[in-house]
Amino acid sequence: TVVTRFAPSPTGFLHIGNARTGLFSWLFARHHGGKALLRIEDTDRARSTEAAIGVILDGMKWLGLDWDGEAQYQSQAEARHAEVANELLASGAAYRCYLTPEELAERRAAAQAERRPFRIVSEWRDRDPSEAPSGSPFVVRLKAPLGGETVIEDLVQGRVAVNNAEIDDFVLLRSDGTPTYMLAVVVDDHDMGVTHIIRGDDHLNNAFRQLGIIRAMGWAEPRYAHIPLIHGADGAKLSKRHGALGVDAYRDELGILPEALFNYLLRLGWGHGDKETITREEAIALFDISGVGKSPSRFDMKKLLSLNAHYIREADPARLADLVQPHLAAIAPGFDPARHGDLLAQAMPHLQPRAQDLLEIARAAAFLFAARPLVLDAKAEALLTPEARALLGEIHAVLAGENDWTTATLEATLKTMAEQRGLGLGKLAQPLRAALTGQTVSPGIFDVLVLLGRDEALGRIADQVQ
Ligand code: GLU
Repeated sequence: TVVTRFAPSPTGFLHIGNARTGLFSWLFARHHGGKALLRIEDTDRARSTEAAIGVILDGMKWLGLDWDGEAQYQSQAEARHAEVANELLASGAAYRCYLTPEELAERRAAAQAERRPFRIVSEWRDRDPSEAPSGSPFVVRLKAPLGGETVIEDLVQGRVAVNNAEIDDFVLLRSDGTPTYMLAVVVDDHDMGVTHIIRGDDHLNNAFRQLGIIRAMGWAEPRYAHIPLIHGADGAKLSKRHGALGVDAYRDELGILPEALFNYLLRLGWGHGDKETITREEAIALFDISGVGKSPSRFDMKKLLSLNAHYIREADPARLADLVQPHLAAIAPGFDPARHGDLLAQAMPHLQPRAQDLLEIARAAAFLFAARPLVLDAKAEALLTPEARALLGEIHAVLAGENDWTTATLEATLKTMAEQRGLGLGKLAQPLRAALTGQTVSPGIFDVLVLLGRDEALGRIADQVQ
């Protein structure tokens, strides 16, 4: 069976490129009915705070990526990593290297002076360790293959080969006995039974070294799929300037729905014909590595927002209202979730069709919870000329006589009024909208009247009459 893993390093930030790697690993396992495992690579103790780990778990959960079993923590397997290094020493596949930091620095400097690439060649590979002064510090290095080439049949990159002369005897255990990243990854992947390693192509070079350990141990070789990184719209590597925010920022600062980010990240680098909107179930049914492209994909904020608009239109109004609440509370001090939650949910179907993100919905809904008298925006203010205010007085009189406060009746009443004055309905609706919402754009005017309710609506109109 297929076993994948997502192996993020906690940095306090779940970069969307990493989230996409996690998504692909998860989808591949789900598609093949296998297992999707999560491993937190927390060997950098200073950075791997509980908060930094929380950011990753939280972001994955929000995207709906559920992992099989408990998350593993790389730091907890250090003894096991050292054990494998010792097995490699015992079998002669690795050696204790007593080169001092000074000797290494000298050799590095010499290589630089001669303008040749520096590659560690340690005489301790063949020297008798008993020649080392007793008690002197050492690192454990893997004996890299001396000739030939190492080949990987990568599921995305195809056949990639590296000349073994380019692979040095890299370190497995540092002089303080702690395992290196290179060793830890291989041991963990093996012990977790990982069959498919799906990760960013910035790790392709590591794969050749990691295979060296796997082969020296005689372990089964996993399949690799190194997926291209995400670039900005201008083709440069994705940075903050391009919108390389953490997943939490898409949720909290940009008002993106999880299903929209899921769909967007999926389509970023993977395709199924020209299908743009893909649900989670469809993704599981359709996903395969063969649909992952070889060239870097470009991040396109417009596309993300248009998918977000799509999922906002599709979303259940009550759920959407819950998601909008924190955004609304931030901009509308009068908003009280306990008192106004229902009204917000009622308003949702009138706000959903036009919005690209949750902040837009919050801004469009804020008028409902504003205190009287309303502060009008400049355009609304300009619209309320003395004539318009006089007209509002007449509208107020007509509406005050209306007891059946429903869209159908209000529409009929105001249409009749417009006809009697020989005015278009818009001539009435414009000042009315300004008085009711403080803006010149809003949901349909009859819906606004009904959402506000009779007393609040009449009060707001009265506030603007001169
Ligand atoms: N922890 C590594 C990273 O976050 C990934 C290692 C791997 O996938 O092999 O870049």
